[in-house]
Amino acid sequence: MDKYGIVLENVNLKELSTIGIGGVAKYLVRPYSYVDLTKLLDYLEENNIKYYILGNASNVIIDDEYFDGVIIKLDEFNNIEINGKEVTAGAGVMLPKLVNVCLQKELVSLAPFSMIPGTVGGSVVGNAGAYGHEIMEYVKEVKVIDKEHKIKTIVKDDISFGYRYTSLKNNYIVLSATFICEKGNPIEVLSDIQARNEKRRDTQPLDKPSVGSIFRNPEDIPAGHLIEELGLKGMKVGGAMVSEKHANFIINNGNATFDDVIKLIDKIKKEAKEKKNIDLVLEPTIIKWD
Ligand SMILES: Cc1cc2nc3c(=O)[nH]c(=O)nc-3n(C[C@H](O)[C@H](O)[C@H](O)COP(=O)(O)OP(=O)(O)OC[C@H]3O[C@@H](n4cnc5c(N)ncnc54)[C@H](O)[C@@H]3O)c2cc1C
Repeated sequence: MDKYGIVLENVNLKELSTIGIGGVAKYLVRPYSYVDLTKLLDYLEENNIKYYILGNASNVIIDDEYFDGVIIKLDEFNNIEINGKEVTAGAGVMLPKLVNVCLQKELVSLAPFSMIPGTVGGSVVGNAGAYGHEIMEYVKEVKVIDKEHKIKTIVKDDISFGYRYTSLKNNYIVLSATFICEKGNPIEVLSDIQARNEKRRDTQPLDKPSVGSIFRNPEDIPAGHLIEELGLKGMKVGGAMVSEKHANFIINNGNATFDDVIKLIDKIKKEAKEKKNIDLVLEPTIIKWD
């Protein structure tokens, strides 16, 4: 596999995920190029080897069993190209970096996403959002690999999307995305965003290992308020705990296991259903290897 990219063996996914949970994967491959990725996919499928695409693992809760397969990370796809208002970024580019590069060119549209610790690939696929904006608002087109391992470009009109959802997920591997960004005053935009980010730091446990918000907001009440009303702040299962700072965050106190987090999620869901008749819906993706 090393002809297709950088290959690491026995990689502890716990160390890669923002919540600090995950087992060891037999291999992790970082393809050098789009073509190498298509060849790698051909090789894996021909040899019946399982694989999983990870971005920055900030919106996944990963099984802590051994993964007898290949994690594919697109970190080498880290190019950013700017042509006027059009910004094309590789799937592996982290959003805070993209925002910085854009602001240097006075392109301000992506600034609301400066605190999201995800890659372009993971964030476009999941339509990440903050401060009333979603990343798909700014997407013009995305370059992808389809199930037949063909590289193609999909324009925005051919993508369906909604709250933390796009039709790309599980159907395509995103290689890069092109955004249309408006010009503005970067100093004004930055000071506004920094003030909002500061407020977030005061109200959310951003210094603790987590996957960000754990549930979507139900229609009538923010998930955090609901969980707080249920009296579940501080509830623990093993090393997993409902944050005291913001009840819609589950944090890892250092030694949480996959099962601890899943059990805590189930307890919260059960209470919400029994006491408020609300079906809470999970935001992150649960990854089970079997
Ligand atoms: C402290 C904190 C704050 C957060 N704040 C926000 C916030 O304000 N708003 C928000 O929306 N989210 C937030 N999140 C959640 C998370 O950062 C975002 O959802 C982010 O967009 C996920 O990107 P990722 O690269 O980490 O994806 P991953 O977690 O690695 O992957 C998520 C899913 O996308 C798939 N995927 C990843 N890359 C690709 C690709 N190239 N092609 C196809 N599929 C792919 C994976 O297979 C997986 O199913 C926060 C998380 C944390 C820890």
